[in-house]
Amino acid sequence: MEPKYKRILLKISGEGLAGADKTGINDGVLRKLCAEITAVYKAGVQICLVIGGGNFFRGAKNAVGGMDRSEADQIGMLATVMNAAALRAALRSAGCKVKVFSGLSVPEICETYNFRQAIQAVENGEIVIFAGGTGSPYFTTDTGAALRAVEMHCDILMKATQVDGVYDADPRFNPEAKRYETVSFSEVLEKHLNVMDMTAIAMARDNNLPVMIFAQAGENAIINAVCGSAKSTIIKS
Ligand code: UDP
Repeated sequence: MEPKYKRILLKISGEGLAGADKTGINDGVLRKLCAEITAVYKAGVQICLVIGGGNFFRGAKNAVGGMDRSEADQIGMLATVMNAAALRAALRSAGCKVKVFSGLSVPEICETYNFRQAIQAVENGEIVIFAGGTGSPYFTTDTGAALRAVEMHCDILMKATQVDGVYDADPRFNPEAKRYETVSFSEVLEKHLNVMDMTAIAMARDNNLPVMIFAQAGENAIINAVCGSAKSTIIKS
């Protein structure tokens, strides 16, 4: 294994833990994911992880009972903490050193985000999981991922998704759709290419952080992505 990057931020969505059920955490999916992350870790890559919460709750979509969006988003952020706790346990039992920092304070479960402590943990070779997104409502974990990747000076933000890159049309409906090998931030923003939310793209653009979009499914998907050999799209300046 020849990693192309020294320090990565890997963004996994909540659905990326759920498998076919699209909800909750699937044991097989979690184990496969952790086996791949462990292989990357053992190859010496410094790993930051951001985990979403959509397998449990999304504030904008799942608000019920007349709750305010800010209250709904707090539930969404708590969902990411649950996923982070599950990932931490699975990665620890696979032999990795792991620390979880959350943008939303949940002291019984994990550390509250602190830049200095987080960068130290990364430099010490621990896998650092960032939960709670940005810690504020009205954001997504994609934006949290862009923010933490910039703060942690990652070489790249790698977003594992259901599709293997960015297309000029929706490949599910248009067989002529073409995947970009690379595409610029401005093209993604101008054409509203649906890959990540626009706040995250703007954050990456303004800080010159390349973004890779690749498919999480398939054998060695994450390992191949880290080695630069996965089918993917790179978004850059
Ligand atoms: N969320 C938030 N602020 C953030 C990140 C996330 O309020 O900075 C909440 C929001 O309700 C969101 C939910 O957490 O819907 C889960 O995050 P996201 O939808 O990004 O998860 P994913 O789609 O990646 O599973």
